[in-house]
Amino acid sequence: MADIGKPPSATTASLRRGSWAKALPRPGFVGLSPVTRRHMAILLIVAAAVLFPLLHKNDADIDSAANALAFAALALGLNIVVGFAGLLDLGYAAFFAIGAYAYGVASSFQLQPEWSSFWEPFRWLDLVSRMPGASGSDIVHFQVSFWLMLPVSAVIAAFFGVLFGAPTLRLKGDYLAIVTLGFGEIVPIVARNIPSVTNGAMGLNGVAAPQLFGYSFGVRATPYYYVGIALVALLIITSLRLKDSRIGRAWMAIREDEIAAAAMGVNRVRFKLLAFATGAAFAGATGTFYVAKLQTATPEMFMFPVSVMILVMIVFGGIGSVWGVVVGALLLQMLQSWFLEDLSQWLHVLGRLINFDWLQHVELASSIELIFGLILVLMMLYRREGLIPATRRMPALTLDQQSAQIERGGFDTLRALGNEDRNASAEPLLEVSGLSVSFGGLVALHSVSLSVPAHSVVAVIGPNGSGKSTLFNAVTGLVVPDSGSVRFAGREIGRLPPHRVLECGIARTFQNIRLFPNLTVLENVMIGMHARLGAGPAGALLRLPRTRREEEAARERALEILALFGNRLLPRADHVASSLSYANRRRTEIARALASHPKLLLLDEPTAGMNPAETLELAEQIKSLHDAGVAIVLIEHKLDVVVSLADMVVVLDHGEKIAEGPPAVVRRDEDVIRAYLGRSAALA
Ligand code: ADP
Ligand code: MG
Repeated sequence: MADIGKPPSATTASLRRGSWAKALPRPGFVGLSPVTRRHMAILLIVAAAVLFPLLHKNDADIDSAANALAFAALALGLNIVVGFAGLLDLGYAAFFAIGAYAYGVASSFQLQPEWSSFWEPFRWLDLVSRMPGASGSDIVHFQVSFWLMLPVSAVIAAFFGVLFGAPTLRLKGDYLAIVTLGFGEIVPIVARNIPSVTNGAMGLNGVAAPQLFGYSFGVRATPYYYVGIALVALLIITSLRLKDSRIGRAWMAIREDEIAAAAMGVNRVRFKLLAFATGAAFAGATGTFYVAKLQTATPEMFMFPVSVMILVMIVFGGIGSVWGVVVGALLLQMLQSWFLEDLSQWLHVLGRLINFDWLQHVELASSIELIFGLILVLMMLYRREGLIPATRRMPALTLDQQSAQIERGGFDTLRALGNEDRNASAEPLLEVSGLSVSFGGLVALHSVSLSVPAHSVVAVIGPNGSGKSTLFNAVTGLVVPDSGSVRFAGREIGRLPPHRVLECGIARTFQNIRLFPNLTVLENVMIGMHARLGAGPAGALLRLPRTRREEEAARERALEILALFGNRLLPRADHVASSLSYANRRRTEIARALASHPKLLLLDEPTAGMNPAETLELAEQIKSLHDAGVAIVLIEHKLDVVVSLADMVVVLDHGEKIAEGPPAVVRRDEDVIRAYLGRSAALA
């Protein structure tokens, strides 16, 4: 995108400095900016975490804390899959198991093949050693380093994530949940039934403890605790950086509305697989950590209840919220290992005091599943978004801000929207010919042809159910046509998937508005830029200067696009889309489509539900958009809007094109009058 780096126009800048800026959060009560306060809070947490084992010298408690950290790491991984990408995975513990067994097998006495010269290079690399075997001949002992296996297990688990994800991620919602549930059951069963590799139900024995500079971790809890802290810190940073990048936005777009995400250029299959693989990688590394700490692995450690427990942790902490799921996991683990023990003791004392037999013997820790269930029910009733919600609700604009003089904005501020090659070629931009679509027995479109010249506005009109929206769906790849061709800028796009159509330069809005409801207006618009930005996982994780510049420029441009609608959207840039008025949602959807820098814009009933004043305002904006050089196809019922905007009108009825021509001509066409008003009107 050539113009993305250009400085914001004067209008945008002045709008951003406008009165609504008073609504922005002020410096905090101690006079520190929110950013400084956040850094101080993080510093405090890190200091407390580092000092804990030094001040609290109880080995058992440090051990529980290390276990809790393992679960925090798992929760962070599942949060990527369920919280960010919205893929309900009920078998997540399977990846935990894969990571655990990967290290377990590679560093124990489980596999002992006979020594041969094949192993010599591995001995040089210190991955295996040669030992005298029981039967006289020498055997191989695997001793792969823990530090090497941490990333390797992550990669192995990610590989399985892709392997299991590829055939199943086309499924949605409940189906995906069932398939992952099955997968979660299969992995422990396989582990139980290949005793030669896993030692079956008895569990691996003699998994080596990690070593650092010749010092073995052994069975003390403190070194594991510190590795856990480092692991969780790394995963928190990874999660935060991914969430706040082009990749995180694509995941959340898929979670919010898969169809709209695809129509805005997100390759669904690729990003779902990426989410699955990233989540699996987190679990794989954690599995290695966990099994090194326990120095054994049994299939029972990875059964369904573990998957459910991790899921409860992220629901409790706040689905999609990075800090939330860490807090949720830590709290629930501590509840289990510390608090319930203590509470049981107190109840026993109370039972003795009041001489109540049941209280004297109650063991709360054994009813942990019941307690988790209760927590879930209470959370759903009273705090559905979790302890630390992922999205912070902005306060509504004040009355003053709402009733501020409406600024018109206007597209002349954004000349670069249009196509620079103003000298229109003779060839039409969009050429649809013989397009037919049927749903079962219903023919929604029958051999429809139309052509849209560059820089023109074509209106498509027709009674309800005449196939107008289906025409848009077929052009943008959301439904596959039975026959016919769609050519765009000289290229056949008839059967391309939606995200490829957007990449070619066609953006659209939907009749039944499809925004990403829980994302902010600004995020919605930035997702529109997905196909025009280039940051991949490495760029997002490392925050390379190039990625940072790209993000900054994208933000600027998104604000600029919002400014096209005057002060309608700009003051609400940080509000979630679901809180907008109906008309503002329509405007946001148009802004999102414009963000993809389209050559052709398809608007499906953009003024539906708007009052006459708003309709007029939008019609003006569409007109200036056209002046800026974007070609537009418009489905519209309000005939005055059609007449004032369109160069050409196409009329559909029962899936067939019944008329075509300039608005003034079509208006007098008898077939059109009949289709709209019935036979008698045509005769009159
Ligand atoms: P319009 O936008 O002109 O009001 P549509 O294109 O939405 O009409 O619909 C045309 C016809 O196709 C209608 O009869 C509608 O019920 C049918 N239709 C549209 N989409 C689907 C679908 N996904 N499955 C089945 N029928 C559909
Ligand atoms: Mg429609």
